[in-house]
Amino acid sequence: MCAKRIHIIDLPKKIVVGRSVRYNISQYIKEILPNISSCLVITGPHVYKIATKEILEFLEESGINVSNMIVEDSSIKTVEKVLNEVRDLNVDSIISVGGGKVIDVGKFVAFKKNIPFISMPTAASHDGIASPFASIKGLERPTSVRTREPVMIIADTEIITKAPRRLLISGSGDAIAKLTAVLDWRLAYKLKNEYYGEYAASLALLSAKHIINFSDVIRRYDEEAVRVVIEALISSSIAMCIAGSTRPCSGSEHLFSHALDVVAPKPALHGEQCGVGTIMMSYLHGRNWRKVKNTLRKIGAPTTAKELGISDYHVIKALTIAHKIRPERYTILGESGLTWEAAENLARITGVID
Ligand SMILES: [Zn+2]
Repeated sequence: MCAKRIHIIDLPKKIVVGRSVRYNISQYIKEILPNISSCLVITGPHVYKIATKEILEFLEESGINVSNMIVEDSSIKTVEKVLNEVRDLNVDSIISVGGGKVIDVGKFVAFKKNIPFISMPTAASHDGIASPFASIKGLERPTSVRTREPVMIIADTEIITKAPRRLLISGSGDAIAKLTAVLDWRLAYKLKNEYYGEYAASLALLSAKHIINFSDVIRRYDEEAVRVVIEALISSSIAMCIAGSTRPCSGSEHLFSHALDVVAPKPALHGEQCGVGTIMMSYLHGRNWRKVKNTLRKIGAPTTAKELGISDYHVIKALTIAHKIRPERYTILGESGLTWEAAENLARITGVID
């Protein structure tokens, strides 16, 4: 850390979390974007029926010119379609109502078009809901790319409670991952003199601790559980805004998850994989991996290859190639990664494989 270093932090302007907050969506938007005249609402096919139709009505009633587009994935092809739509309609803002993919597409397109982006997550499945980073399939690498932070995050806990339980569990795994992400960041600072910010690191760690401290609440999967996980995910998104990178939130456990996405025929959810990765990377860091495992178990998250629905072979394979996913990101996996035998031992000792 250098006292002369100029550090610019861009943050969301407004974060609204709570029951039925969707009823006041137009008012919240106009408070931060007083000149808004039109917007494109991007959503998924399922979410359209349960949430978006209503949102479109609220926006129209307030005099905003609204268009709607349903997207099925977060591929570069989908992004191009949305970009064309934004150009043809000439809208001045984008709202994503949906899960991670819908949010990633909206965020990426808004960034490309230099217009404000509003994130309205309908599930608490990962920390992309409020971060300035997006995962787009078909770009060169399987990790995320820098865009810009949403100007507003509006999380209606009533809607999010209706999302499948598995998504909430995945969000918890993504938050717990900050335990090893921060350890990797500190290691890169010590060994590679990489920039390290204690404030962003502390905030990311707070997200993980929030999940551990409130695991009894999370396992109820009710609206209070949703609030706990959403707040943890928003804090870790803010940690990324402060650091200006995904460093505080994504380390070796994320590299393992990205590697599984590459090698496994049917990968599990991002946060589920990151949770299992955190167990193993905690072991490598010499930390209390059993505590991570027990917490994940308590909230009903997968802790083994079998529970992820992934073969032992693919877990070991992913461990051996994880360091290649993002070579510039130094982690406990080092520059040459794990040998097959070391990877197998690691997975066996931590009970991830039998
Ligand atoms: Zn993540």
